[in-house]
Amino acid sequence: MLKNKKHIAVLGSTGSIGTQTLEIIKTHQTFFEVFVLSCNSNYKLLYKQALYFKPKYVVINSSKGYVFLKNHLKKTDTRVVLGLSDLSDLMGDGELDLVVAAIVGSAGLLPTIAAIKAGKTIALANKETLVVAGELIMNLVKKHNASILPVDSEHSAIFQCLVGEDPNTINKLIITASGGPFLNRDVSDFKNITIKDALKHPNWDMGAKITIDSATLMNKGFELIEARWLFNLSGKNIDVLVHPQSIVHSLVEFVDGSVKAQLGLPNMTIPILYALFYPKRQTHPIKNFNLSKITELTFFDPNKSKFPHLQLAYDCLQKGGTAACSLNAANEIVVDAFLNKKIGFLNMIKIIENSLEKSIFVSNPNLDDYLQVDLETRKITTELIYKK
Ligand code: NAD
Ligand code: MG
Repeated sequence: MLKNKKHIAVLGSTGSIGTQTLEIIKTHQTFFEVFVLSCNSNYKLLYKQALYFKPKYVVINSSKGYVFLKNHLKKTDTRVVLGLSDLSDLMGDGELDLVVAAIVGSAGLLPTIAAIKAGKTIALANKETLVVAGELIMNLVKKHNASILPVDSEHSAIFQCLVGEDPNTINKLIITASGGPFLNRDVSDFKNITIKDALKHPNWDMGAKITIDSATLMNKGFELIEARWLFNLSGKNIDVLVHPQSIVHSLVEFVDGSVKAQLGLPNMTIPILYALFYPKRQTHPIKNFNLSKITELTFFDPNKSKFPHLQLAYDCLQKGGTAACSLNAANEIVVDAFLNKKIGFLNMIKIIENSLEKSIFVSNPNLDDYLQVDLETRKITTELIYKK
């Protein structure tokens, strides 16, 4: 038994990344003490997790869930907390060492900022935080001496390729993309895409929102923006390459022409494990990776006219300011509307573009500006969908 266990908070513990993180913690219980578990509304799963991991706090966003947990956990030592603002307060607790930020969407922004301001180490899955406010986030990380460890598989790959390297010797980053379920579907047939089709990702099993983002390639656009801030490179030095087998998770090209890549089966356990144990590598039961069984590895440029979301992300990155914040807000609203059968697959991009034309733009934003733009863009996008 280790004397100093890492006290860990898992934000979004009921989601795809959250549950996979808890599986790893279960396997390595001697290393971790679960301090906080949090979710939006799935109180039944949060309750089960609380009984098993005995966290000091559980945080839930719904009043119904709060009442349930208060009643059912009253005989335990776990305290029940309601809402994102109290979750943010807990991020400053001196007992907390490591925060796994796995809330989906810009809802993850404020708790992540609170953890950064407390100088914590953050295993960041919530890419929307960097899409919305990457510049501000990275400035805060520097100011408060916090650390961000990427969990997104592509960024974990790049992070691993950069160990021991001088960042000034990077020529470019190459982010790989599976291409999603519609890589080979003719664009003339996109109007017939159903929710079921879009939720069927060929290689990765993920939450609904990121699965739709993968089908439109918005996810890759967000990852481009995420990489820009995590690795401090301009969009011009970051390429996206379609690689349908999802074995090469991303690559780094250096000034001497050498290219490093990180490979593995498409499985989020590896990047989560790497972030939880960084800078050490931890043995873990995982399916063997046998390159001789992989019959082909192919790579080609993305078709940006077929998948305009990706070009839009490049454009927003280039524009700077709150452009990507608006892009994220509009995207969250249209994906939700698509998942609720309010709009079709092709409407998503049209409404986002329309929304970006109407939304306010701040060129040198502070946190309040980002929050305001996020809110305003959500309103504009909602009106475009529901009040025609
Ligand atoms: P998910 O939908 O499966 O889970 C989301 C979690 O966030 C849930 O626990 C939910 O309760 C919580 N949540 C949602 N809205 C909330 C709110 N308003 N307040 C508080 N909690 C809220 O999503 P996921 O697939 O686990 O993705 C989580 C994040 O990780 C996303 O940003 C995604 O882009 C990123 N990511 C996911 C994967 C993956 O394989 N799933 C891979 C790379 C990056
Ligand atoms: Mg990814």
